[in-house]
Amino acid sequence: MKTIYCIGELLIDFVAIKQGNDLSKAKEFTKKAGGAPANVACAISKLGGKGQFIGAVGNDPFGAFLLNVLKENRVDISLSQRSKTFTTMAFVSLAEDGERDFVFSRGADKKLKYDSSLKKQLKGNIVHFGAATGFLGGGLEESYDRYLFDALTQNAFISFDPNFREDLWKGEEETFVRKSLRFIEKSHLCKFSEEEAQLISGESDLERACNIIHEIGCPTICVTLGGKGTLVSTAQKKTIVESIKVSPVDTTGAGDAFIGCLLYQIANLGDPYQILTDYDQLLEMVAIANKAGAVTTTGYGAIPSLPDYDAVFKN
Ligand code: ATP
Repeated sequence: MKTIYCIGELLIDFVAIKQGNDLSKAKEFTKKAGGAPANVACAISKLGGKGQFIGAVGNDPFGAFLLNVLKENRVDISLSQRSKTFTTMAFVSLAEDGERDFVFSRGADKKLKYDSSLKKQLKGNIVHFGAATGFLGGGLEESYDRYLFDALTQNAFISFDPNFREDLWKGEEETFVRKSLRFIEKSHLCKFSEEEAQLISGESDLERACNIIHEIGCPTICVTLGGKGTLVSTAQKKTIVESIKVSPVDTTGAGDAFIGCLLYQIANLGDPYQILTDYDQLLEMVAIANKAGAVTTTGYGAIPSLPDYDAVFKN
């Protein structure tokens, strides 16, 4: 089984206790582990895969809490780092429909230092970049560039999720798109929300949006559509794989559960690149990943709601 190296942010999500309020009205918050690439590493490890998280937290109690959560979920944190800067925090509120309102207080995640010892380990394995804070400068962005180069030279399978957060890029969406394109053109697999596919391509029709992105370079795209399922796109074929019917209470982390489950399955192939040529197998894997996403929406919080192997593969 291949290791999946998930690079990016790990942070505290302070989630408003009372739902149905945006952040301007929320009064009490509960502390949860968050950060899309960390969620993806947990999703992989909870299914029984080899998820490795690479990111920085503060040398403070929040940092200790976060690394402990990853450990409890069997994520390998041996290459994670502690920084003197405070742990990054996000304040999150769920509106009535389960959608999120975000405010970031950025700290240690940007302090990640490039580790040259990782390069050899990447050989033939899988690297997943989640870019919520990865393009906001600092050591994390520098590390991203260097790890992308290492992944390419080591023939690693590259996965990318832009994790666009409107609050972080207001008025600077073009910069976000430009930085994302550098990764998209080198990635073998990209996972977008509908909004991200449209933003990056500049095209509202999703199939045309995917074709524009394929021309940039990425051969396999999954556009997750919430309760409507997932659009799977290659340059030649497009299919919507329907979602599993559930009663969602909190959609946080559904996309991370989805891509984590898809990468877990790809990691179990002898050759991850097989997925680029076997479209039917890709569709089967996406149907299973949809299940992981759906199950995650039935519980509160991202990491506690991620499904284990039996919940996805045996029920
Ligand atoms: P997030 O940013 O919260 O991680 P996302 O926008 O990237 O989410 P979604 O499209 O919300 O991702 O969800 C990912 C997958 O999870 C979907 O493709 C679908 O298979 C499943 N899913 C999400 N919401 C629902 C739902 N309401 N009912 C059934 N399945 C769902």
